[in-house]
Amino acid sequence: MGTVDYDVVVAGGGIAGLITATSVAHNSRQRARILVVDRNKETEPGKKTHNGWTCGDATSKRSLQYLEEKLGIKYGYPEIEHQVKGVYVFSPDRRSKVLFEGEGYLLNRKLLPRRQVEDAKKLGVEFMFDSTAERLLHEDNRIVGVEGRRGDGTTFKIRSKVVVDATGASSVLRKFLPINSYIEREIDMDDVVGTGRYILEFDPDNYDRAYFDPDYCIIHLDQFMAPAGYGWVFPKGRNKVNIGLGVSKSGLERRNRLFGLKDTLQSLIDKYVAENPAIKNPRQPDGDADSGNTKGNWQVPVRRHNDCMVANGFAVVGDAAWMPRPIDAGGISPAIYGGTILGKVIAEALEANDTSEEGLWNYNVEYMKVHGFPMASFEVLRRYLQTITNEQINYGMRHFLSEQDVQAITERRHPEFSRVRALNPLMWLRVLRHMSLARGLRYTVEKSSRLVEINLNYPEKPSGFEEWKKILKRELDETVERFKPLGA
Ligand SMILES: Cc1cc2nc3c(=O)[nH]c(=O)nc-3n(C[C@H](O)[C@H](O)[C@H](O)COP(=O)(O)OP(=O)(O)OC[C@H]3O[C@@H](n4cnc5c(N)ncnc54)[C@H](O)[C@@H]3O)c2cc1C
Repeated sequence: MGTVDYDVVVAGGGIAGLITATSVAHNSRQRARILVVDRNKETEPGKKTHNGWTCGDATSKRSLQYLEEKLGIKYGYPEIEHQVKGVYVFSPDRRSKVLFEGEGYLLNRKLLPRRQVEDAKKLGVEFMFDSTAERLLHEDNRIVGVEGRRGDGTTFKIRSKVVVDATGASSVLRKFLPINSYIEREIDMDDVVGTGRYILEFDPDNYDRAYFDPDYCIIHLDQFMAPAGYGWVFPKGRNKVNIGLGVSKSGLERRNRLFGLKDTLQSLIDKYVAENPAIKNPRQPDGDADSGNTKGNWQVPVRRHNDCMVANGFAVVGDAAWMPRPIDAGGISPAIYGGTILGKVIAEALEANDTSEEGLWNYNVEYMKVHGFPMASFEVLRRYLQTITNEQINYGMRHFLSEQDVQAITERRHPEFSRVRALNPLMWLRVLRHMSLARGLRYTVEKSSRLVEINLNYPEKPSGFEEWKKILKRELDETVERFKPLGA
């Protein structure tokens, strides 16, 4: 492929890109040359959009433990702001709450990338800030570099053995990938949620713990307030909160049509904050840790991750690879797992002198085994949840959800909904009014275990991909047909 400037160029220095670059450096015995190209100024690494480092900021303790175990990196204050014991999910009527997840952390997404850049630099990773990657360079059906533009208007062209696309949810590199590949380029807009949040300080009072809890993250389900999504109240201290909403765009349009309303994502967030009785006298904090990052909206992909994430000389990771978990849009853990695995696979491929699709394929396989295998089943569960009403959610959470189901979701498995499966004819009579709910739950369980099985049989080589994909698609197409969203 001629001379190269770098072994690896990572486009996008957000959490996924920075961890990938660090992982290549950590795993590379031959001291690979790695460059991160990011459009932000060096003083503002990891900034997603002009309105900040927009995120709910919550991640599991388990994902940070994984990072420590694999790369020897342990975060502390100030990049970790607060610790929680778990996540409470409340039914729309607030009468049921279930505890999901284990312990977790609230990160400071503005300060974390500063620490991550330092970690990467210590391992020899180089940076080119204030530079936007615009196009992939290609020769003979392989990616050989990237070109783009610096903040001062000058252009750049960099040649490398591998280009990683970690440019986030609005990636143009993946979208216009110029070579033959199994990577899907476009996402269906129904698989994207609009999300937004405030970071606020407030006067602490006697909390109603259904609305703010300093020890737990709170998720509010409500198809009216957050159609096909949810609201969240995540504590960042005893008087500091990350509060926001995620809604499906088409779900919001249908809900507005149904009720003759004109709400937008922003108007819903503002109402959600105003109606929270625990958040008294809210104000946006102005210290360096939060300035420029207290209000923001952005989008998150909520389908399964891209079925194939590598091509000749190219890989995609993080939101650019649609990695966030479909039921809660959590993308920090997947970026940590994905970036760590991808970095190791790239280091091995460089050593083997094979950075072709086949040489990088193990990233697909390993990610699926370690973190990705339940994502297709969560996609189906998400589709199903979009079809049910507040009344059905209230009933389902009260009567159908068991402790084992909660445990399963926490452990990244699909819930069995065993209470529904165990219904005998007499009990079916009692739940007659909720028959369609019970049937839907049963269907998702059966479908999900098939999808997990399919994913655990992900092909070890590219030659098996088309046959595998055909089987996956057949299963998924049926669910899209069956689960039409409310009001569609
Ligand atoms: C409102 C909201 C709440 C969320 N809440 C949570 C939560 O609580 N927990 C959780 O786990 N996840 C949450 N997520 C999702 C999570 O924030 C993302 O999954 C995660 O940040 C993805 O990391 P990334 O590195 O892939 O992408 P990003 O964080 O988007 O980083 C991409 C980087 O690439 C840069 N870039 C973009 N284009 C280019 C280009 N062409 N050239 C050069 N650089 C470029 C960007 O400036 C940025 O630095 C939330 C998302 C939103 C929007």
